[in-house]
Parts: sequence; C-alpha cells; structure tokens
Amino acid sequence: MINVAIDGPAGAGKSTIAKAAAKELGFIYVDTGALYRTIALSASRLGVLDNDDKIILMLKDITVKLGFADDGTQCVYLNGEDVSSQIRTPEISMGASKVSAIPKVREFLLDLQRNIAAENNVIMDGRDIATVVLPNANPKIFLFASPECRAQRRYKELIEKGEKVTYEEVLADVNQRDYQDSHRAVAPLKPTDESIMADTSALTLEQSISMIIDTIKANIN
Ligand code: C5P
Repeated sequence: MINVAIDGPAGAGKSTIAKAAAKELGFIYVDTGALYRTIALSASRLGVLDNDDKIILMLKDITVKLGFADDGTQCVYLNGEDVSSQIRTPEISMGASKVSAIPKVREFLLDLQRNIAAENNVIMDGRDIATVVLPNANPKIFLFASPECRAQRRYKELIEKGEKVTYEEVLADVNQRDYQDSHRAVAPLKPTDESIMADTSALTLEQSISMIIDTIKANIN
C-alpha cells in the first residue's frame, strides 16, 4: 500500500491540499485531527473535558470509527453516531488540542490509524504521522507557512464569516497553538530527517496543491 504522510501546523492548508491530492491520485484522505476532536466531543458531552483521569476512564466505554463514502468523504462515528459536523466547533478545537496531549488518548487511536493505512493507499494528515503513526510512509511531507501568513489567511476567513476579531488576536492564537503542539511531551509536531519541507507561504492554494501532487508522484514511482 502507498502511505503518504502530511504533517504540519494548524492553518498551513493541510486538509484542503491533502484532500485535493488524494482525489487526484485516487487515494483515501484520512484526517486524523477528526479522531482527537471526537474524543474531545465525547469528553465534553460527559462534562469531563477538564479531567485527564476521567477522560482516560471514558476510553474504555467508547468506540471511535472512521468511514469513507464512495467520493472519499470521511465520516467519524462516536459509538455508532455520525458526529462529523458536531466536531467542527471552536470549543471542540480547543478540547482536541487538550486531549491530544494525553498519552493514553494517542495510544487509543493508534491502531485505528495504522489499520486504515495497512489496507488502503492513503494520504494521512496530522501532526505525528511521519514521526509515530506511519514511520514507513513515503513521502513524508511537512507542510508549513509562516505564522503571519497562516494568521492572515485565518483572519480573512473569520472576517468573511462576519466574526469580530483583529489580526493581532488571530496571530496570537496561531502562535499559542504552534507552541502547544510543538512543545508537548508526547508526539510533538516536528519534521523527521526524511521529511520534505513544503513552504506554502508564497504560494496560492492551486500552486500548493500542484506542488504536493508533483512531490507525491515523484516519490511513489
Ligand atoms: O487538525 P485539527 O485541527 O483538526 O486537529 C485538532 C487537534 O488535534 C490539533 O490541535 C492537534 O493538537 C491534535 N492532533 C494531534 N495529532 C494528530 C492530529 C491532530 O495531536 N495527528
């Protein structure tokens, strides 16, 4: 099976780019952030998001599964319920960042990710795909853009949605999430020695997609 890893910080465009590349190549696109978000949703529903011990206990009683529609769209199920849209809220984004720092949560989700990659050609997007989940992935792509650039893109999106934020606030959030993701003790965000570094700062979305598709094609042939 062909396993492609795309890791990188929030806001670098990973999911949009990986989804487009997977469609072009006929691979399954796996968004692993959805798994951490689902754990956070479950913890939030049970009111235990602020208690690591209770989150760990909760893992014994829940099932998390991924499903893929014919067009490649990923759905995530919590105890059989499709929660794909419920996990896309600001509260759950923050919760996912919190639960993802708990080693037992990462362990709980490991086999699920590895099994999908063992059975399918995948482009898997996350923070620790090359370093932990799929160390044999090829290519290993580290997709990034400057914090200012990611903040600018996010700021534009939020303003278009009618949200009242300043660029400085968005930049502060980006910097905080970067710090948390790359400084946690377990599976911190970082490239491997083999990672291909892909900087999208100066590229449009279309250019970024072409660059990633070209990189993958050059490495899987
Ligand atoms: O990618 P997304 O923003 O949906 O991820 C939500 C959170 O899950 C991130 O803030 C990150 O801390 C965590 N995550 C992780 N490892 C992954 C994917 C996501 O720790 N492989």
